[in-house]
Amino acid sequence: MALEKVDLVTPSGGGSTSKLVTGSFFQWPLDTSAEKSLAKNVPVPISEWYGFKVKVETSGKENLIGASLGDLEALAVELAEPRFRARQIYANLYRRRLGDWALFTDLAKPLREELGQRFAIYYPEAIQVFQSSDGTRRYLFEVAGGHRFESVFIPEEKRDTFCISTQVGCAVECLFCVTGKLPMRGNLSAAEIVGQLLALQQDRGTDSKRLNIVIMGMGEPLLNYDNVMKALRLMTDPLGMSISPRRITLSTSGIVPGLERLAHEDLIPNLAISLNATTDEVRDKLIPINRKWNIAALLEACRKFPLEPRQRITFEYVLIQEVNDTPEDALRLVQLLKGLKKKVNLIPLNADPWVALKTPSEERVLAFQKILLEHHLTAYIRRPRGNDVSAACGMLAGRNQPTGNDAPPPHLTP
Ligand code: SAH
Ligand code: SF4
Repeated sequence: MALEKVDLVTPSGGGSTSKLVTGSFFQWPLDTSAEKSLAKNVPVPISEWYGFKVKVETSGKENLIGASLGDLEALAVELAEPRFRARQIYANLYRRRLGDWALFTDLAKPLREELGQRFAIYYPEAIQVFQSSDGTRRYLFEVAGGHRFESVFIPEEKRDTFCISTQVGCAVECLFCVTGKLPMRGNLSAAEIVGQLLALQQDRGTDSKRLNIVIMGMGEPLLNYDNVMKALRLMTDPLGMSISPRRITLSTSGIVPGLERLAHEDLIPNLAISLNATTDEVRDKLIPINRKWNIAALLEACRKFPLEPRQRITFEYVLIQEVNDTPEDALRLVQLLKGLKKKVNLIPLNADPWVALKTPSEERVLAFQKILLEHHLTAYIRRPRGNDVSAACGMLAGRNQPTGNDAPPPHLTP
């Protein structure tokens, strides 16, 4: 996917009428057409984005990105250095984002040299960047093994959102999602997950106070649980990247055992659930893992999920014409979510040549939202961002490359 801002159509504050608030970017018709989505995928010249050093290290040295403070403390002991050296190295890697041992001037030169002989510092290599007319940027990264994945930067008035990936491809294979059409090529490591974020920060220079992270890129984060948790710890560590867990949202298609495990962690991000249907019959077809963990099991796990007093679960609902967009669906959604602390993000389907489904009309989207609002359910319509560079929700696939993931799977070739 990739992500975007949500709150241009706001609920009416619990009243029974809906109010449409438009913003500068928000215009009907929503620009979700398949033609538009692939029309303008022209890469940004390298000189305009290669301001950050992310070259893949080819010397075979171990990468220190991904190391925890504990790992570095063990290294300090091994090198017969005082423990506080580990904190210095850690802050240089994650807080100051130094990519060259020569810049670690708070360490004595012999130590820098010794570290440099044994270890490298590198992020996933950015191969290409695509710039949308709305300011959104799609990044194509490559990691070891030639695996390619994408991340998205979405600038907004008051904050900037980074949408990050956790896997190369996705085994869940949702019917509406381009990532799900790719062959599953594997999990990203914690170093690769955090490395993409460091690269984005380095490129955009975003102040961490403006930063929002959404784990809504390629892949199902709860199917790469350990690496995602390790990456979350690195992102939120006050001695390092220092991103508040309240500014991080993890989106899942509904891996119930993963949700149950997450509920018991000492570090819990905001939670978004891709519900996308109101009956098991439809959800089974859209999101095949529903056959394993159905709507009832998923919502039961949501009810048990720990939330802080003002925290709510976001339920994402991709609206697909004549599949899940009827007034009956809206009413069922109201019933299903009763008693949960929640808000709903309605996402009109981003159409794509790889996906044989249609976006509902403006009237149907608004009618669906109206029913939710009339039942006092907070419901936003998420506008597409970066649609002209294939960066909108569900479109990440690393396409438009001379090599890589471009070719549609054989059964989708026209
Ligand atoms: N795998 C996780 C996170 C990545 S998908 C998950 O499924 O939640 C992020 C969001 O993009 C999900 O809410 C998904 O439903 C949505 N999405 C996928 N394909 C889409 C499409 N073609 N149009 C609009 N949203 C889509
Ligand atoms: Fe995977 Fe999420 Fe896409 Fe489904 S919507 S295929 S879970 S990335």
